[in-house]
Amino acid sequence: MKIYRDEDADLRPLLEKTVAVIGYGNQGQAQALNLHDSGVRVIVGSVEDESAARARRDGFTVLPIAEAAARGDVLLLLIPDELQRQVYRDSIRGQLRPGKTLDFAHGFNIRFGWIKPPPKVDVIMVAPRMIGHSVRQRFLGGAGSPAYVAVEQDASGHAWRTALALAKGIGATRAGAIETTFAQETEIDLFMEQATFAAIDRTLLLSFEVLVEEGFDPELVALELYGSYEAAEIFAEMAHTGFFRQGKLHSQTSQYGTFSRGPVVLPDSFKRVMRRRLADIRSGRFAREWRREQEAGYPNFHRYWEDALAHPINAAEEPGRALFGQGR
Ligand code: NDP
Repeated sequence: MKIYRDEDADLRPLLEKTVAVIGYGNQGQAQALNLHDSGVRVIVGSVEDESAARARRDGFTVLPIAEAAARGDVLLLLIPDELQRQVYRDSIRGQLRPGKTLDFAHGFNIRFGWIKPPPKVDVIMVAPRMIGHSVRQRFLGGAGSPAYVAVEQDASGHAWRTALALAKGIGATRAGAIETTFAQETEIDLFMEQATFAAIDRTLLLSFEVLVEEGFDPELVALELYGSYEAAEIFAEMAHTGFFRQGKLHSQTSQYGTFSRGPVVLPDSFKRVMRRRLADIRSGRFAREWRREQEAGYPNFHRYWEDALAHPINAAEEPGRALFGQGR
């Protein structure tokens, strides 16, 4: 794994350029402010809405997206992934000239060919591994937040220099900018969502249903499963102490139970299920399905949400949220 730190990156290539941050939401606001504080000239491209007002309050020049794309040398496409294709087609594609750079914070649209930039521009990715709020707060605190960096298209021969300068400007090289590819970043991200966290979420929900069906108090079950923050702490400890080694923080009964029953609850054959999810992602099958869903007006997506919010776990978690959610 190749990790770039502050000393590996030079901000200067960016200081001669104008960075146009397209979209002033989670990532847009954090990255624009960090780049500004690093001495980079930043303009914001946005539709006239609350985001545009926020960017003006933060002191930025806000322009219609096409105008910002025309003026900017490095364009940071920081609008929701499912909207990027249309905004790119309507307002950005026509403004791309040789020497310009198109930057993404997630590889989806490039990986699945939803956006096909012309060969004359550089296409890079600086993808923070944290939400925008943390990207900003950690920058202000001096620590910075890690990010993936990738180059998909290097028309200028300087795409890596630009990517690393951008990573430095938002504070990512303070913590570590990790080299990857658009394909790897996208595929792992989707796999985590569709296999890893799909399984974890589903396991928690099925645990809730089984325990409640067996007569346990729903509110206590929700508290035990995730409401007390113990589960969150276990994940934090995995990152801090180690995946297995954090187990020593629990009782021996807990350790023995988890070791001995884990493979029975989720046998190795589950890998086949996970591989099928990965195959669906890699073949573009999931991306095609998701695009059909969007074009149809999100009928299944809305139904999933309706079902989710009708589940009894929502009511059961309320006392825990009131008790343990304070101060967050
Ligand atoms: P947000 O949902 O915060 O939205 C970003 C901006 O896009 C907002 O200013 C929003 O305006 C604007 N917008 C929405 N619809 C349109 C439209 N039709 N035309 C023009 N602008 C529009 O996005 P994120 O910051 O969460 O995501 C941006 C990118 O960063 C994505 O590629 C995402 O995958 C990536 N990323 C996000 C992370 C995160 O912290 N969430 C972490 C790492 C990567 P308004 O508010 O008015 O709707």
